[in-house]
Amino acid sequence: MARRIEITITGIVQGVGFRPYVYNLAVSMGIKGHVANTSEGVRIEAEGEDVQSFLDALFKAPPPLSRIWEYETRLLPVENDPGFRILESSDKGSFTLISPDISVCDNCLKELFDPGDRRYLYPFINCTNCGPRFTITRSVPYDRANTTMAIFKMCPECLAEYRDPQNRRFHAEPNACPVCGPRVELVNSEGISISATEEPIERSISLLKDGLILAIKGLGGFHIACDATNEKTVKRLREKKRKSNKPFALMALNTDMLRDYCEISAPEKKLLESNRRPIVLLKKRFLSALGPVAPANAYLGFMLPYTPLHYILLSRMERPLVMTSGNLSEEPIIKDNAEALKRLAPLVDAFLIHNRDIFMRADDSVMGTRKTQDSEIPYFIRRSRGYTPEPVSLLDEGPEVLGAGADLKNTFTITKGGFAIPGQHIGDMENYLTLLAFEESMRNLKKVLRSEPLAIAHDLHPDYMSTSWALGRPERKYALQHHYAHIGSVMAEHGLKEKVIGVAFDGTGYGTDGKLWGGEFLVCDIHGFERLAHLNYIPLPGGQKAIKEPWRIAVSALIQAQKEKAEFCLEALGFYDKYGAERVQNLVKMARSDKLSIPSSGAGRLFDAVSALVEICDINTFEAEAAMALEAAITEGVDARYPYELKEGVPKILDFSPAIIAITNDLLDGVDKGIISAKFHNAVAFSILDTVKRINSETGLKKVALSGGTFQNNYLLSGTMRLLGENGFEVFINAKVPCNDGGISLGQAYIIRERL
Ligand code: ZN
Ligand code: ZN
Ligand code: FE
Repeated sequence: MARRIEITITGIVQGVGFRPYVYNLAVSMGIKGHVANTSEGVRIEAEGEDVQSFLDALFKAPPPLSRIWEYETRLLPVENDPGFRILESSDKGSFTLISPDISVCDNCLKELFDPGDRRYLYPFINCTNCGPRFTITRSVPYDRANTTMAIFKMCPECLAEYRDPQNRRFHAEPNACPVCGPRVELVNSEGISISATEEPIERSISLLKDGLILAIKGLGGFHIACDATNEKTVKRLREKKRKSNKPFALMALNTDMLRDYCEISAPEKKLLESNRRPIVLLKKRFLSALGPVAPANAYLGFMLPYTPLHYILLSRMERPLVMTSGNLSEEPIIKDNAEALKRLAPLVDAFLIHNRDIFMRADDSVMGTRKTQDSEIPYFIRRSRGYTPEPVSLLDEGPEVLGAGADLKNTFTITKGGFAIPGQHIGDMENYLTLLAFEESMRNLKKVLRSEPLAIAHDLHPDYMSTSWALGRPERKYALQHHYAHIGSVMAEHGLKEKVIGVAFDGTGYGTDGKLWGGEFLVCDIHGFERLAHLNYIPLPGGQKAIKEPWRIAVSALIQAQKEKAEFCLEALGFYDKYGAERVQNLVKMARSDKLSIPSSGAGRLFDAVSALVEICDINTFEAEAAMALEAAITEGVDARYPYELKEGVPKILDFSPAIIAITNDLLDGVDKGIISAKFHNAVAFSILDTVKRINSETGLKKVALSGGTFQNNYLLSGTMRLLGENGFEVFINAKVPCNDGGISLGQAYIIRERL
C-alpha cells in the first residue's frame, strides 16, 4: 500500500545540490511527490510503496557540500501525484543556513582548460558543487533572484542546464557563461580599460610578470597581487601598503609549486586542498625563502587558487603570487569596484575588476596545524571566507543574542535556535571604516539569518569602539570581562556550563580593577568568574608605547626582578650602548613611577620582555611579532626550565622575576638564545600546571579551558596540554574559532545566551 510522508530537513541544504539529489533519487526509486527549498531548509513530500527505503537512501550519500543537522518526518494523506517535481521555493519567514563559498571543483576546472568547452577560460565557471555562495547572497532562500547574479539573464543554453535535473548545473544559482554572465575588465584608476584589444587576463599576466602590482577582484573582496619572486616589486608593495614586517599572504598553483619554499605535511596538504581554501601557515624551508614577503619569519602563509580566475592567472604565471588583502593596513577588505579604484589607487598599477557584485565581504581565512602526541590538527587564526556563515552547534535551543566582540581582530557572533553563527573577520576596530563594515556585515547576517537579537554582550573596556557601538543600541546590554569571554568561547565550543578552571593568556584585556590583564587564572561558569591567580603586574613605562617597543618592557622587567642591581644588568647586557644611556635612565625612572607607567599582567608582555632581553626582537612592527620570533628561536629537545614563584594570596601571584634573573645570568654566560627561549617556554607551561594544581586543591575542579592569543604559540600550547593531561586534568581548547580575539564574540554570545 502506498504511503506519503513529509520530510523536513535543516542544515546546510541549499545551494549545495540537495534538491536535484532528492529528485534523482526519487525518480530512480519510483517515488512520487515533490521537493522545495523553504526558509528553514528543505521540505520533501514522498509517496510510494516503499518510502522507508527512500528515506534510508536519502541520508546515505547526500551531496558533498551539504550538512544535515536535523530531520523530521510526518505521515500525510496519499495524493496520487503523477511524478516527482521540484517546486518553487516557499518562504515562511524562518531561517536557514547558507553554504560558505566553495572553491572551483575538478569538473569545472577540466572544462575551464578544455579548448573545446564553451566555457574555455571563462573566469566565472561554476556548478552546483562549487562557486560563490555566502558572498553573493542578499537574502534567503538561496535562489538566483536573491543573489548578486540576479541582474544576469541566463542565455538559452545556460537556462537549459539550470532546468535539467540530470545536469551538473541544475539549479546552480550563479550559473553563467561567456555569453550571458559576468566579465572581467582591466582598468586604470580612472576606470578606463587599458587592455585595448588584448584579452584582459592575458594582459594582467604580462603586467604581473613585468613586476607591476595589480588589484584583483575576487570572491569576498579585492586582493593586491604581485609576483612573489620579484624582490623589488614586493619591497615596493611593502613600502606602499604597510610600515611593518607583517607577512604577505601567498597563492601557489598547487602544493608542488610551494614545496620549493616550504615544508608541507600530509594534514597541511589536505587543509590547503580542502574546498574551503584557507591560507595555511607553513614552515619555511630556509629562513630567506621569498625574502621580503615575510622577513625574519619562520612561516609563509600560502593558499591555493579558489576561483577560476585564480587558476587562469596562476597557471600562466608559473610562480607564486603575493595575494594580500585589498585594504590599507588593518582596514576592512574592499569589495566594490568604485571603492577600490578610489582607495587602492596609490598602492597598485592597474585593476582587474569584474561586474559580479560582492554582497558580503569576506577576507581569506588563516589556519595552521598543530601536532599533538598522535595527530596533527588544524586550528584557526582567522575564520572567514570558506567557513562563514557555518554555525557552531550549541547542543540545545536558546534565545537570539549578539556578541559584539573585541576591538582587535573583531568578529561578532549571532545565536539562533541551537546555533551560534560567528560572522566574518572584520579587522581592527580603530577607524570609522571598520565600524561601518562591522555594522554592514552585521545588518546583512542578521537579515540572512532573520535574527533579531534581544540582548548584546560587549567587552568591559570602556574605550573599545565595539563597546561604544553596543552602548548606543536599544537592546539589553551585558559587559563581559575580556578573559572571561575568551574562556567562554571554549565553553561554547564544548557545551560546558559547569565550573571550569580557565587559563586565559593573551596580550591585553581590560580588567575589573581597571588594569590591563592578560595572564589570568579564572574559575568560571556561565554565571560569572573569580580571578584566583594572575601573572605578576609588570609596569609598562609610557603605556601603549611599551607595547610597540618590547625593549622598554625588558627594562621594566629587569628593574622589577633585579631591583637595585638593575642598572648594573642593563649596562652589562648592553642596553646603554644600544638605546643610549640617557634614554634608558629615563625609562628606568618611568618604570619606577606609578604615575608614568601602566601595570599589565599580560602574558604577551612577559613574552615581549624576554624576546627583547635576549635580543631576538625589540620592536613590534605588528601584533605579537616579538613573541612569535621568540617561539621561532626555540631549540627543540631542551627539558630544562627557569624558576618562577607562585605567591599565595587572593588572587595568587605568579611571578617570573626569578626567571628574569636566571635569563640575565644565562645571557651573561653566553648561553644560546634558542636554549634560553626553550627554558622560558618550559617554565611558562610548568607554571600553568603548578597554578592549576593549586587551584584544583582548593576547588576540586578537573576541567581546564585554555584560550587567549598567547596559545597560538604551539610549543607552549602542546607543552601545557601534555603536562595538564599527565596530571589528570581534562583540557579543552578552541577548535572552531580562533583562540585570539577573533573568538571573543562567540564566548560573549554563549555566556549571555545561557544566562537568559
Ligand atoms: Zn563545479
Ligand atoms: Zn549562458
Ligand atoms: Fe584577548
